Amino acid sequence: VGEILDGKNAAREVRERVRIETAALIGRCGVVPGLATVLVGDDPASKIYVGSKRKVCTEIGFQSFGHELPASTTEAELLALIDQLNADPKVHGILVQLPLPKGLNEKRVIFALSPEKDVDGLHPVSQGRLLAGEAGFRPCTPLGVMHLIEKTGIQLVGKRAVVIGRSLLVGKPVALLLLEQNATVTVCHSRTADLAAEVGRADVLVAAIGKAEMIHGEWIRPGAVVIDVGINRTEGGLKGDVEYAAAATRAGYITPVPGGVGPMTVAMLMQNTLLAAKRRADASAGSVSR
Ligand code: NDP
Repeated sequence: VGEILDGKNAAREVRERVRIETAALIGRCGVVPGLATVLVGDDPASKIYVGSKRKVCTEIGFQSFGHELPASTTEAELLALIDQLNADPKVHGILVQLPLPKGLNEKRVIFALSPEKDVDGLHPVSQGRLLAGEAGFRPCTPLGVMHLIEKTGIQLVGKRAVVIGRSLLVGKPVALLLLEQNATVTVCHSRTADLAAEVGRADVLVAAIGKAEMIHGEWIRPGAVVIDVGINRTEGGLKGDVEYAAAATRAGYITPVPGGVGPMTVAMLMQNTLLAAKRRADASAGSVSR
């Protein structure tokens, strides 16, 4: 049976490191990392996500600025808030919780963020930097995926990695990060001809589909690292995209759902916000000494 990759534990370690580095940053230059969260409408899942992000902020010593707007908010009103947050020196990172209610154009809202505050890594400038291999904010869930793979101690160089899903939020950035680590990457999607065969070749499998247990356990290559990003609400509770029980008997390492990638996403958001605050502090120090 494969070893369980415990995302709760790994996320706790990351949060603890961020907490210590935050205290050091505050001690060194008085800069308190600030994260603004923007929640529009009353989607219950989004409320829970934003609530847990704000709670973690407070626990690790960040300032948390919560903005809750009604579903009737116009795009102009939302863009005005983004402008205000872009200009606020206490805010180092801005998180717009997606999905936005119908009628609000997500692309226009994300494009309006200052790239310096794009801690979710979804602005085209951040995505371009990832593609170009330049420093920048990487999206949080893909960072969490990479952190869990790193935890196995397995070197990715030359390994066959298969990513299922090609969204801008998960699949595509995960594929680029794996490529950066010199894995040989295959990206599968809804039009892939023989998914079972592709999965069977994977030394490392990342499933980001959104369909409960659609990856059969018997497809898994024995000894593979299996990272399940999927979060699917079913009558039987939360399920991943991988048929967990059967896959666990073949995998070398496997993430559970819940308790795998989910907690990592929030931890990585904190890591990105700390990075944004450090960059701002360094930039201010540079401008003073010049
Ligand atoms: P999207 O719906 O944007 O993308 C799903 C991808 O899966 C698409 O590329 C789609 O292909 C592909 N796909 C759909 N059906 C099949 C199929 N039958 N065979 C192969 N590929 C298929 O989802 P996201 O990337 O945003 O999220 C994926 C999952 O991860 C969801 O369950 C989501 O809830 C979860 N998630 C979890 C997070 C966490 O923190 N743990 C964070 C973000 C997401 P095509 O492009 O051809 O349509």
